[in-house]
Amino acid sequence: MRFILLLFVVLTTSSCSSDQNEYTVLKNCNIIPMYKDTILVKKNIIMQNDRIVAIEDKIDGNYLNSKTITIDCSNKFIIPGLFDSHFHYGRKETLYKVSDSLLLNYGVTNVFSLHGSDELLTHKKKIDNAELIGPKIISSGRNQRADDLTAEEALQQLKNHKEKGFEYIKIYTHLSEAAFEVYNNKAKEYNLRLVGHIPRKIGFYQLMDTNQELICHTEEILYNEPLNYLMGVDDTVTEPNYQLIDTIVSTLKKNSKWVSPTLVAFKSILTQAQKTNFPSELNPPLNEIASYWNWLPPKNQIPTKFSTKGKQFRLEKGYLFQKLLVKEMNNQNLSLLAGTDSPALFNLTPGKSLHRELQLLGSCGISEYEILKTATINPAQFLRLDKDYGTIEINKIANLVILNKNPLINIGNTEEIYKVILNGKQL
Ligand SMILES: [Zn+2]
Repeated sequence: MRFILLLFVVLTTSSCSSDQNEYTVLKNCNIIPMYKDTILVKKNIIMQNDRIVAIEDKIDGNYLNSKTITIDCSNKFIIPGLFDSHFHYGRKETLYKVSDSLLLNYGVTNVFSLHGSDELLTHKKKIDNAELIGPKIISSGRNQRADDLTAEEALQQLKNHKEKGFEYIKIYTHLSEAAFEVYNNKAKEYNLRLVGHIPRKIGFYQLMDTNQELICHTEEILYNEPLNYLMGVDDTVTEPNYQLIDTIVSTLKKNSKWVSPTLVAFKSILTQAQKTNFPSELNPPLNEIASYWNWLPPKNQIPTKFSTKGKQFRLEKGYLFQKLLVKEMNNQNLSLLAGTDSPALFNLTPGKSLHRELQLLGSCGISEYEILKTATINPAQFLRLDKDYGTIEINKIANLVILNKNPLINIGNTEEIYKVILNGKQL
């Protein structure tokens, strides 16, 4: 019920003009600013238009007038708006509105879409021009997957991406060597950055020496050398080689690669493989998402694909391996981005799944503060948006999540949302 109500609130509000003297004040906040591991106690955050204009112990009288909106935040904890660094919008405009309202309800104010389309660019423009209220969207183009893509075609893709206004090329598993080479050598000339899967024809070690900056999904590391631990095609009851974790992580670190683990996506596959009772349908607004993304059998093929004990064993060990890998990545100070692959797999609800990802990162043994970084300052830095986003500071865009409980004590408290502020406005 809560979602349905908010859907209307979020999507029908269009008057966001405000004059120079209109302020919103968050009173008596405990701020978790995320530029260092600290809490600023009993502060007042003053916002004007879409920015934070002051953070003060006592509110300056100039900010208080008949138009000032004050929100009492006593005993609340304020964190920056969250980023989901691996999201999928699909190609259907009615779905975008459902996704956006769910994301915002869960405090996700910034989204890195890893499979763009013309429809999504149109939607993004409407948000950027304040015709629609939604999270700030950054998107790659369509994923580059063709195993026969020629060098000429790849060059044309670069031109198309640039023309349309995409900033990222999404590399996919089976992309041809010729195309990858073009992207690697020429993307920079087009101001495009490379992110995505590990292309199998390049492989893990060779990828280290390329301009691909981000590896999406730690599971990708399992499928390439030196591990070659495949799922779904192999039934052999063997475990991945845990001895290789240290080498793999130090190789990534040495080559300054960013990693987005998306544990929640792999966990979804593991759960589906073991699941026998899927619901027959889901309630709105999730049913539309679920049918578009084939969440439920018989269209969902995952339960049949992983039906044998051997395949399920490999999924379980593959998951355990990734958790150990992620812990070591954090130990070696690799830069991690929290991403979900939502809503492409069963039960990956937009927004909610980001909180689950944060909790899974916690289950790897990472500290609360380090986990929060993966959904705030880290993605802001990776996406080169840290001038405006990722921390709570004067002059930054006021995207904030007001929490009832302290997430530095228990990362699960990011779900205890009191209110969400988007571009200086309470939703
Ligand atoms: Zn994805």
